[in-house]
Amino acid sequence: MNDDPILIAGGGIGGAAAALALARKGRPVRLLEQSRAFGEIGAGIQLGPNVFRMFEQLGLTEAIEETAVRPDALVMRDALDGEVVTRVPLNDDGFRARFPYPYAVTYRPDLQNALIDACRAEPLVDLVTAAKVTGYETDGDRVTATLQDGGRAGGAGLIGADGLWSKVRETLIGDGPPRVSGHIAYRAVLPAEEMPAHLRWNEVVLWAGPRTHLVQYPLRRGEIFNLVAVFHSDRYEEGWDVFGDADELFQRFSGEHPHVLELLGKIDSWRMWVLCDREPIKEWSRGPIALLGDAAHPMLQYLAQGACMAIEDAVCLAHQVDRHGQDLAAAFRAYRDKRYLRTGRVQLTARFYGDVYHAEGVTRELRNRALAPRTPAQAYDGMAWLYNGVDETGGQIL
Ligand SMILES: Cc1cc2nc3c(=O)[nH]c(=O)nc-3n(C[C@H](O)[C@H](O)[C@H](O)COP(=O)(O)OP(=O)(O)OC[C@H]3O[C@@H](n4cnc5c(N)ncnc54)[C@H](O)[C@@H]3O)c2cc1C
Repeated sequence: MNDDPILIAGGGIGGAAAALALARKGRPVRLLEQSRAFGEIGAGIQLGPNVFRMFEQLGLTEAIEETAVRPDALVMRDALDGEVVTRVPLNDDGFRARFPYPYAVTYRPDLQNALIDACRAEPLVDLVTAAKVTGYETDGDRVTATLQDGGRAGGAGLIGADGLWSKVRETLIGDGPPRVSGHIAYRAVLPAEEMPAHLRWNEVVLWAGPRTHLVQYPLRRGEIFNLVAVFHSDRYEEGWDVFGDADELFQRFSGEHPHVLELLGKIDSWRMWVLCDREPIKEWSRGPIALLGDAAHPMLQYLAQGACMAIEDAVCLAHQVDRHGQDLAAAFRAYRDKRYLRTGRVQLTARFYGDVYHAEGVTRELRNRALAPRTPAQAYDGMAWLYNGVDETGGQIL
């Protein structure tokens, strides 16, 4: 049975990481990706120290570091007056004394390519494209994934890493569509030479405005800048990755600091996302089926941890499969038990951070006063649960 592959639905960051992690433990995997090619959108992604611990496990640190940028600080600025609300140094001795791994930002395609290249070099990984999973059937301890083109793929287990609109989740749990948050994100990247020189900082900067925020940071050795603009809106378009309306963006950010408006004016074409999440649950495994990443615990991006959690899931799951040998059901249950409280905490904390970023009126004043006196050491204390990678009982996540 050990030669029977574990099937993975979805070859995004979570699915690719799971394929690699399982293969590194000697398990054959078949990755079924719906698209014709593996790829990620051309945007940035923040990588907390917790995920660098996972890269070390996967032997990927060098490949990631090749193009990633190490920002000097995480900075929140008030988008109305432009003042710094709080600044958390990332590159100084304090951060590295507290956290053994670095903080970095990278270009999503670079991260995805590093994962897929490593999968391609693994004889135990079978990468299949143009394979959209529509559901699955189980028969004893075997699973058959059904594909949109009428095909079927059999294996010893199935991991649903098929994202927010997961078909595997639909079959396993059937809890309906995700929760539409009422928050919209516009994303774009800008060549560094087009970035205004006075804003070309080596920092992750979040301009916190009333019911809005704008994030900027450099990517790819500083060659491009990532811009993400978020605002509240009831407008809802199902689907993902459509063009945004720049006029609406200016309306939402009107009255904000000239630097914010200057940055918004630099982009002609934005991509738009309707941001969704779900309530945390723990029913993400049954028998030889398990969910991973956004399929299991979709979250708002305000802690910048969705992909980091998916990669933690992948490494944790592979450890449990390794520990439990042939008993995949026990391995998947143990994986779920290790993960659901930590990922649930990130889901809920991300919502809270969104409220903090988008504060207005008196709440904004209180936020700024509360955060101003915070020392870097206090900020690190607040992040330790996340960046040190411990589970909710204080144990290591692996
Ligand atoms: C604006 C924004 C900013 C973000 N910033 C960060 C950040 O800084 N740091 C961070 O860690 N996270 C961030 N995230 C979250 C992160 O992008 C996601 O959590 C992460 O991509 C989830 O990975 P995944 O592999 O679980 O799912 P996905 O990335 O959604 O991948 C799912 C894959 O499955 C495929 N698929 C879907 N359905 C099927 C099917 N039926 N059959 C076969 N294949 C299928 C898809 O084509 C895709 O390749 C951000 C998210 C947003 C929206």
